[in-house]
Amino acid sequence: MKCRFCQASLENVFLDLGGAPPSNAFLREADLSAPELYFPLRLYTCAKCHLVQVDEVQKHDALFSSDYIYFSSYSRSWLAHAERFVTQAVQRLALGPESLVMEVASNDGYLLQYIKARGIPCVGIEPTAGTAAAARERGIETIERFFGSQFAQTFVAERRTADLVIGNNVLAHVPDLNDFVAALAIVLAHEGVVTVEFPHLLQLIAQRQFDTVYHEHFSYFSFHTAQRIFAAHGLRIWDVEELSTHGGSLRLWVCHEDAWHRTMPAVGALLAKESVSGMLDMAYYEGFQTEADGIKNDFLTFLIGCKRNGKHVVGYGAAAKGNTLLNYAGVRPDLLGYVVDASPHKQGRWLPGSRIPVVAESRIQETRPDYVVIFPWNLREEITAQLAYIRDWGGKFVTAIPQLNVS
Ligand SMILES: [Zn+2]
Repeated sequence: MKCRFCQASLENVFLDLGGAPPSNAFLREADLSAPELYFPLRLYTCAKCHLVQVDEVQKHDALFSSDYIYFSSYSRSWLAHAERFVTQAVQRLALGPESLVMEVASNDGYLLQYIKARGIPCVGIEPTAGTAAAARERGIETIERFFGSQFAQTFVAERRTADLVIGNNVLAHVPDLNDFVAALAIVLAHEGVVTVEFPHLLQLIAQRQFDTVYHEHFSYFSFHTAQRIFAAHGLRIWDVEELSTHGGSLRLWVCHEDAWHRTMPAVGALLAKESVSGMLDMAYYEGFQTEADGIKNDFLTFLIGCKRNGKHVVGYGAAAKGNTLLNYAGVRPDLLGYVVDASPHKQGRWLPGSRIPVVAESRIQETRPDYVVIFPWNLREEITAQLAYIRDWGGKFVTAIPQLNVS
């Protein structure tokens, strides 16, 4: 096993969560009588570049079937985040009708719709058929392809380079990291800017967010490591923002090495913050397994206690996070009866592995559970406000991370 960035051999286990099915492999009724495909879920830290990564990239087909059902537009807070970013980027980079904006992994056009609304030409690159079709229905040009250097060369030869290339929460999901970053450099105009967002490894470790680990999430970056990777492809990070999204993300503003963008003080400040935290030392990455096990044990103890006391527990949010926690803890429908999700694409299906049914929110009103576990803990505030009515019958909210919280 070699590091997917620097090719050093991987020997240091960061976290081993056993085996689990792909987190988006939701089951239909007919699937319940068939076995599921489980893959090992184990992360390593590269001793040379500190990239935390899955030990083997599973076959794309198994992980991203054409049945892939994540539609970004179903999350209201995510839409608001996208719109704020567009407002900021258009102003900061002085984008207009002469510019070209490209988004990689553009999903259902949740972000590019705001670019289009400002009269700025844009194109989305999105490999999954269902979401690409949804984007086209919004009138957003979408090329149904995986993004890589071959695609980038063809695009630039046939069209033009892009002034802004957006990659939100895609870098972590790329199997061939070097080819992907090389492709960003190819499609980028000389004075253009790439923005990428990804969960910050510093926050993942500090906040014990082990449930953000899943098969489709191949790489986990510190700012230091990200800087090394971009530099290896002639790209320079000239600004960085720390965001609250996904439990703490970074947004990098990247340009060609010799472009005019002046490197902002935030870059040096974050490098210093990571150094002080110890992220350049392998010892920093050890001991995370113990943290994850502690959370898993507390959560499971809580569920078993509820079961013994005749309390009814359900979940909210059928996303990857919940699947990692539920499968690592070995939770099944006897301990957690159902999970509510706002997306009609998930309702009527079952969670992979745990086989817990996914239902509409109306079920909560009907069954009046004692506890609702919020799996997307990063949206706790939004979801507790939305489900405030469970207080009417004494219902309580539960989050498992960074520690068990029942309130
Ligand atoms: Zn490495």
